[in-house]
Amino acid sequence: MNSKELFKESKKYLPGGVDSPVRAFKPNPFFVERAKGSKIWDVDGNLYIDHCLAYGPLILGHCNSKIIEDVYKQIQNGSSYGAPTENEITLAKMVIGRVPCAEMVRFVNSGTEATMSAIRLARGYTQKNKIIKFSGSYHGAHDYVLVKSGSGAATLPDSLGIPEDTTKNTLSVPFNDQTALSNLIAREKDEIAAIIVEPVMGNIGCVEPKEGFLEFLREITEKNNIILIFDEVITGFRLSVGGAQTHYSVTPDLVTFGKILGGGYPIGAFAGKRELMEMIAPSGSVYQAGTFNGNPVSVAAGISALNQLDHSFYNELNKKGDYLRNQISETIYNLDLNLQTVGLSSMFQIYFNENPILNYEDAKKSDTEKFLVYFRELMKNGVFIPPSQFECNFISNAHNYEDLEKVVIAIENSLKIAWNK
Ligand code: PMP
Repeated sequence: MNSKELFKESKKYLPGGVDSPVRAFKPNPFFVERAKGSKIWDVDGNLYIDHCLAYGPLILGHCNSKIIEDVYKQIQNGSSYGAPTENEITLAKMVIGRVPCAEMVRFVNSGTEATMSAIRLARGYTQKNKIIKFSGSYHGAHDYVLVKSGSGAATLPDSLGIPEDTTKNTLSVPFNDQTALSNLIAREKDEIAAIIVEPVMGNIGCVEPKEGFLEFLREITEKNNIILIFDEVITGFRLSVGGAQTHYSVTPDLVTFGKILGGGYPIGAFAGKRELMEMIAPSGSVYQAGTFNGNPVSVAAGISALNQLDHSFYNELNKKGDYLRNQISETIYNLDLNLQTVGLSSMFQIYFNENPILNYEDAKKSDTEKFLVYFRELMKNGVFIPPSQFECNFISNAHNYEDLEKVVIAIENSLKIAWNK
């Protein structure tokens, strides 16, 4: 069956034909046959240079040979034990050695579980209930954080099935807006347990913090007995050896990870100061548990991945990021389009919008219809990116300069079609 037929078939058995909503792009997603390095092949015989990279985990590309070797060794010895292994200590030490705020780690299975548990821990520690997130930020699919973003007062659930009683405790303000945040904290400070922030907003495209914004978060949380949680599910082990907190030199109380930490296998983790982390069960009374927590296959893959991610790795990868962003900017300039290239390190996006973008409110003004034309044209030109203006594109070390040159040509062709040039 081809992708179109498979999608039709799939819709009979899987809601919407997929297992996660973003995958169901129109008219139909391609169904994957295989992937290797920087490339992904669909069942229809098409080859794409992959800048979606499973939405971020694959910083080493598909099928990294060392990870395959280490995972293979592990699966021959078992895939799950429900009992601890030495490798969990090894991976925890690697995280602690790299990430400034990490003194202890709990491994879970996804970014969603990581943020849910970190928020519970912050609430348990501070004995307060409310949390603040930034409009448009995504912290996973659990009830605490699926809140309609928009005005500060909007705390309505983003999904049916979430009690308003839950989301009334989740407040949001625009990213990069110190005044809105100060005012909210002034009003509610005795009730706020945590601020959770994506240091780079990767779920509204790619928006960096304004200079001083993360420092401001650090100060205001310290002053008001609020736990600062960096959600580094995307930025962790992506922006640098120590993630965003090293890149921006701001140390939060807690951090959450997923994606890259598992070397392409399912994982999540949260980590932080010992005083906080020791409140987690069984050493403390904030409950957190999981059948697959610290599962040996993901942990083996994670160790294998982190072993490859040293400073020189990031230097090389970030050069590719700079090269690609510069080439795209030049293309946009030559075509005389009112668009902008954004991103840092190995993250990039084009905003179909010429105005400065500091937060979701700004990002939402982008021309999403033209973006979708661009997305589809890119696929025709052999490049796969996430199908939304509000996602970020990634580069892996498996992408070589030849790939990137092809991508720039594909972008040029696709922009021309989207803008009728
Ligand atoms: N936090 C952030 C910043 C994310 O980008 C994501 C997923 N894209 C999550 C949390 C949730 O992670 P997962 O999909 O592994 O549950």
